[in-house]
Amino acid sequence: MLSNERTTCLVVGGGPAGLVLGLLMARAGVEVTVLEKHSDFLRDFRGDTVHASTLTLLDELGLGERFAALPQRRMERAQVMLDTGVVQLADLRRLPGAHQHIAMVPQWDFLDLIADAAEAEPTFTLRRNAEAVGLLHDGGRVAGVRYRDRTDGTEHELRAGLTVACDGRASAVREAAGLRPRSFGVPMDVWWFRLPRHADDPAGGVGRIGSGGFAVMIDRGDYWQCAYLIRKGSDEAMRAAGIAQFRAQITALLPWVADRIETLASFDDVKLLDVRLERLRRWYRDGLLLIGDAAHAMSPVGGVGINLAVADAVATARLLAPALRSGGIVPRSLLRRVQLRRWWPTALIQGAQRLAHRVVLGRRAATPDGVRMPTDTPDTAPAGISDQQGAGTPAPAGTLPLPLRLLQRFPALQGVPARLIAIGPLPEHAPEWARRATAPAAPPGA
Ligand SMILES: Cc1cc2nc3c(=O)[nH]c(=O)nc-3n(C[C@H](O)[C@H](O)[C@H](O)COP(=O)(O)OP(=O)(O)OC[C@H]3O[C@@H](n4cnc5c(N)ncnc54)[C@H](O)[C@@H]3O)c2cc1C
Repeated sequence: MLSNERTTCLVVGGGPAGLVLGLLMARAGVEVTVLEKHSDFLRDFRGDTVHASTLTLLDELGLGERFAALPQRRMERAQVMLDTGVVQLADLRRLPGAHQHIAMVPQWDFLDLIADAAEAEPTFTLRRNAEAVGLLHDGGRVAGVRYRDRTDGTEHELRAGLTVACDGRASAVREAAGLRPRSFGVPMDVWWFRLPRHADDPAGGVGRIGSGGFAVMIDRGDYWQCAYLIRKGSDEAMRAAGIAQFRAQITALLPWVADRIETLASFDDVKLLDVRLERLRRWYRDGLLLIGDAAHAMSPVGGVGINLAVADAVATARLLAPALRSGGIVPRSLLRRVQLRRWWPTALIQGAQRLAHRVVLGRRAATPDGVRMPTDTPDTAPAGISDQQGAGTPAPAGTLPLPLRLLQRFPALQGVPARLIAIGPLPEHAPEWARRATAPAAPPGA
């Protein structure tokens, strides 16, 4: 059965980009509907980092205290453990502003918080179990979507003045619009699995780079969410090598998890995450804008994808809400302005991610041949990327490339990568009309 509904701003996808955009549009007084294909936000493969720039945004939106009350870990330094010892990369305590850390919060808690705040606005609607399956057109203009209600399989039409695709890396809307992103080669994929976490384990994130591989572990209270890099396209061959081989690779890299590695019973416990680095040349068509991963799929390097998606949403709301509120059609030139503003910080970060892939990660991704072990004895203590670490001996300066040597020699320089990662090249701030402190501000044009 098809029903015809209408909204002013239609957002496809309730991830970080979609929900923040929905909240801001609603605070502008724009009638906005977010379609999310799942029933909840409980998905394991989402990132967990909320950077200092997003923490500042939450303060501006009047959500800082509610966010601070969520269970979370804080990362104040970024350090990695090499075979030769620990290297300090970034010191977030040197950041300017109110937040000198990155918060690690399960993304479903973050999204629930944003959705709750948005649902308090009278012009906001979140439709769960609603999967966009096609576009509606009005002449050459995108005029909304067809979506499937996944609870009963019925199809519906939802018309809108503007449709914003926030449906992630595999965007169905992008496909339906015939837009193809430019793809930058990525040398690795990620295996994603859990290991139990013990009370005396380190807290926060743990990173480990060895000649035998690269792993990052995210502290989720009673378990570790683990990411392990594998060479792109090697998933099948690595699985064929057997779970025992994989367990050996992990314990060679992270000897302190040997006491629980047997909990990885089979490859059913190990999920493949296809890493992509892509960017659309044009992020819009008449009546349609794409932001977040739908416009530019990010690599997990630096954990910046969520914050970039949120920044896209803030810029979109600031630039487009006034036109939508006055009921007019959003002209192409305005959609282009969103892309112009968000293109260069995205391209800059993706450039840095490509460099990291080439220089560090591509060579560390595991292959089916097994682990190339370091010649020296691996450290047994975990070293991490949180402030609560500190285990491990510093790597001898002579073994490090010049930039890393400089960071160890002049710790004040660690404020520079801290700023690049935790604040980014173009942090976006909440427009006046979206801010909430004590009293709600008037919507634009009111
Ligand atoms: C392995 C890996 C680890 C990562 N770790 C981090 C990290 O720690 N920190 C970080 O900042 N970034 C991380 N990233 C990147 C980050 O996940 C993304 O950049 C970010 O989630 C993009 O947000 P988004 O809102 O654009 O899209 P998404 O988060 O992908 O959200 C898209 C939403 O749209 C919904 N959807 C999809 N299709 C439809 C449809 N047809 N109809 C309706 N709804 C639909 C989905 O269910 C989803 O809720 C990681 C990426 C990878 C691959």
